[in-house]
Amino acid sequence: MDHFEYRGGVLHAEDVPLPAIAAEVGTPVYVYSRATLTRHARVFRDALAVLPKVHLAFAVKSNPNLAVLKVLAAEGYGADVVSAGEMDRALAAGIPAADVVFSGVGKTAAEMRRALEAGCGQFNLESEEEGQELAEIAHAMGLTATATLRINPDVDAGTHAKISTGKAENKFGVPFDRAAGIYGRLSALPGLNLRGLALHIGSQLARLDPLEAAFIKAGSLMRAIRAEGFAVTHMDLGGGVGVPYRAGEVYPQPDEYAAMIARVTDGWDATLMFEPGRVITGNTGVLLTEVVRVKAGALHPWVVVDAAMNDLARPAMYDAWHDFSAVKPGGTRMTANIVGPICESSDTFAMARDIDTVARGDLAVFRTAGAYGATMANTYNSRPMVPEVMVDGGRWAVVADRIEPATILSAERVPEWLE
Ligand SMILES: *Cc1c(COP(=O)(O)O)cnc(C)c1O
Repeated sequence: MDHFEYRGGVLHAEDVPLPAIAAEVGTPVYVYSRATLTRHARVFRDALAVLPKVHLAFAVKSNPNLAVLKVLAAEGYGADVVSAGEMDRALAAGIPAADVVFSGVGKTAAEMRRALEAGCGQFNLESEEEGQELAEIAHAMGLTATATLRINPDVDAGTHAKISTGKAENKFGVPFDRAAGIYGRLSALPGLNLRGLALHIGSQLARLDPLEAAFIKAGSLMRAIRAEGFAVTHMDLGGGVGVPYRAGEVYPQPDEYAAMIARVTDGWDATLMFEPGRVITGNTGVLLTEVVRVKAGALHPWVVVDAAMNDLARPAMYDAWHDFSAVKPGGTRMTANIVGPICESSDTFAMARDIDTVARGDLAVFRTAGAYGATMANTYNSRPMVPEVMVDGGRWAVVADRIEPATILSAERVPEWLE
């Protein structure tokens, strides 16, 4: 459920007609609904309230906008970060350092030091080597780093290969059958307080059974590690719950997810940690765009919009589907290819798609663009960095400026020896 609805034939974000935003900010622009964001944050949090001890860390990489993080901080979410830059955003939004989980396969020594200085609550270690390095750094600083060990359960998440992270051939975590040995060795290191296991098998999961299979494996490993005399007080179950991108698709609901976890983790006696991203932010945003022109095609017309793969990379990267709707649909339909202006054939949002009839100058949206949208934007083809707007009832504000190519150009230097 979201708050992007037609009123009087015009698509609104909550009480704001989208043409009003386009007129002032221009296009393309991401538009977020605060009410939708809050609602998703609460539905997920309330669903998991059936579990005894829960820690929620929003996956910042899915939408790191400061205003978005502010809303989630107020809803009691911590942060799952994968770089010092993301940690700084979480802290700037008022998320306590103690509620920050630092994930990622390539944390640098400098990032570890910065996170330790800030008081980062937990590091999710992705290798024995990383654990040794973190222990040394923390010990040298006179600190103890709190950590979990990320395991690779070798479970097929059944999602797109590029967002699958829990198969043996993926770079993430330590191999399942070596995890207990690594856990024991890292537990002995001064400077490290290893307190549990972590896993995250992939994103945009359409079914719960791969998660269930992975959690069952993690539970048996937890018991084996405890049997060897080591403490396991925290189990980080990651994120990955998918959302519908096409009208009519059915995805696991948070209460079904919670019920499955309650069943699998019964008797675990551990704090359960979660790192939801997409399920919180996916539906909270649209990418608002204007049709530049409609070009005749061999088979179908090409609808060329002013948004491109640099603004919304998912279709080009993952063959992802985003529903496309006219802001003022006239009631007729057309079959068309939707593309951006970038000089790459992968700058294609849809082929042979049945859409609202649109013409030059019409506004339209790509829906479900709140997760892995603006966060992946770049300036390829020397395009501007796409701006972001947040709507709250009848008011709205720009929450990320459009960064013009001239600003980016001004950060470039021509060395003297080229003059
Ligand atoms: C990306 C990521 C998440 C969030 O995934 P979603 O599918 O957006 O819920 C959680 N944990 C880790 C370690 C991640 O890399």
